[in-house]
Amino acid sequence: MSEELYDVVIIGGGPAGLTAAIYNGRALLKTLVIEKMMIGGQATITHQIDNYPGFPDGISGPELMELFEKQAKRFGAEFKSTTVKQISTEGKIKILDTDSGDIRTKTVIIATGAQPRRLGIPGEDKLTGKGVSYCATCDGAFFRDAEVAVIGGGDSAVKEAIFLTKFASKVYIIHRRDELRAEKITAKQAFENEKIEFIWDTVTEEITGDFAVKSLKLKNVKDGSTSELPVEGAFIYVGMIPNTDFLKGFVELDDKSYIVAGHNTHTKVQGVFAAGDVRQKIARQVATAVGDGASAAMAAEECLAGQCFED
Ligand code: NAP
Repeated sequence: MSEELYDVVIIGGGPAGLTAAIYNGRALLKTLVIEKMMIGGQATITHQIDNYPGFPDGISGPELMELFEKQAKRFGAEFKSTTVKQISTEGKIKILDTDSGDIRTKTVIIATGAQPRRLGIPGEDKLTGKGVSYCATCDGAFFRDAEVAVIGGGDSAVKEAIFLTKFASKVYIIHRRDELRAEKITAKQAFENEKIEFIWDTVTEEITGDFAVKSLKLKNVKDGSTSELPVEGAFIYVGMIPNTDFLKGFVELDDKSYIVAGHNTHTKVQGVFAAGDVRQKIARQVATAVGDGASAAMAAEECLAGQCFED
């Protein structure tokens, strides 16, 4: 085990984690950000962020995250690409068991975010990457002049459906109810978009195709009728699952596996904080993740200064 001891290790390099890194780096704490995939998290697969203050014309997710990362590096935060498998404690020290060995730290900020939920229907796994996608920003351009479907009725589904109309000739939004969960302003834009057609009260039961998506088998939940919709792409946006598997038994999780921590971000484990989408809360936005990241960083700083509260 390395004898190196960090003041703060931040697990997750999305908006919450990078904000915490800016604050803790700037406070001259020995700070490490661990990210297993790519810096920026879910925001990097969002084509346009219109509601983050300071960018009146909007900004792309990847561009915004690059700016966050640059700022965190300016204040001296270190970055490491690895996966944390487990966390344990040894007195007041936290030991992170990672793919590249143990990492020791006085405090931990968990900002691991959430990942797209899968539908769990036949054809979904087999055709992922062959027409089934969870990222319109990444894959939308492959569907120029094609007909595609988006499954879901939340902000992600509707926003990404609007984005897909840049390429696709037609975008069906298939929603299991007859009312959208998405914000009204986003819904209005979709209703006004001539390329978008809504299929209400409908669930997708199967995605067909051998080497590429051919069609979706649909069922109307009100009258039980079934139908087949020929499409070349199926973009699935049915919510998120928090990345907390490695934390079971270490911090308290709610019934949906989000970390239980107050808005001050303290978990029940002293010196361990939760920030961003991984925390149990109502709003999951870049702006709220940033707020959490700043709160967690300041709480970690207080803890290191001897004022380490338990909730
Ligand atoms: P979400 O708000 O949880 O919406 C998930 C959608 O998928 C809902 O419409 C839900 O239907 C549907 N759904 C869930 N399970 C399903 C299933 N098995 N079969 C069919 N449909 C299913 O998730 P999200 O859109 O990913 O958004 C996550 C969070 O990020 C939200 O807080 C959202 O506001 C936020 N967000 C914000 C923005 C923004 O620009 N402001 C953009 C993206 C995301 P029901 O409606 O019937 O439950």
